[in-house]
Amino acid sequence: MRKALVAGNWKMNGSMASNRELLSALKEAIPGSDAVDVAVCPPAVYLPDVRAQLQGGSIAVGGQDCSDETSGAYTGEIAAGMLKEIGCEYVIVGHSERRARQREDSDWVARKFIAAQAAGLVPILCVGEQLADREAGQTEAVVAEQLDAVLDQAGVAAFERGVVAYEPVWAIGTGLTATPEQAAEVHRFIRDRVAARDSSVAGGLRILYGGSVKADNAAGLFALPDIDGGLIGGASLDAGSFVAIVNAAG
Ligand code: PEP
Repeated sequence: MRKALVAGNWKMNGSMASNRELLSALKEAIPGSDAVDVAVCPPAVYLPDVRAQLQGGSIAVGGQDCSDETSGAYTGEIAAGMLKEIGCEYVIVGHSERRARQREDSDWVARKFIAAQAAGLVPILCVGEQLADREAGQTEAVVAEQLDAVLDQAGVAAFERGVVAYEPVWAIGTGLTATPEQAAEVHRFIRDRVAARDSSVAGGLRILYGGSVKADNAAGLFALPDIDGGLIGGASLDAGSFVAIVNAAG
């Protein structure tokens, strides 16, 4: 039985004041649960304060990205070990916004995944196709390339301590959501692809859905057998919406 995970990706949003307001609402409304793990991923500069606000509670903290290197002359980058040191449990790697804006390719993302695990973090590997890929019938080919890069470099056993998030790029921040059938099909494809290497690892792997998940569509998505929670962007900035999504998963 896989425990669901709902992670909020705050992206480049928030301030000390608005974060504290949001977190105090979340802390009150989200008690620990055996059914769902919850995490928030704020901008890196806020991580220590967010961690302090959540101290002693059930909500974990994650980074939005990490370097593939451990230390050195990499201006602006943050090592996975630094995230771990300040109390992070998770880190997102390969988000489509970084694949697009920072031109992160799948090999690079795989190295970040490995660096995150080496530091003791649970990487949340984002995969997903662009609209043009879907229209060209290339969804599975694109997702396979992104997944295989990590399977090949890290080995399938690495997925025992990793999470995959399927995020169709055309559904991120657009208000468009994959239909439950579209999402289910790709989630099954991901699990089968991991199972081809190791069925027991595949059976335990948490595969999240992300892309315009809201309070009113979360339950339908999370009810599907291969969807183990969500990576939530916009709706994670609103306490009421995020709590409703967490409740839909648990
Ligand atoms: C995301 O960026 O990970 C995401 C899923 O965003 P949104 O929920 O806003 O579509």
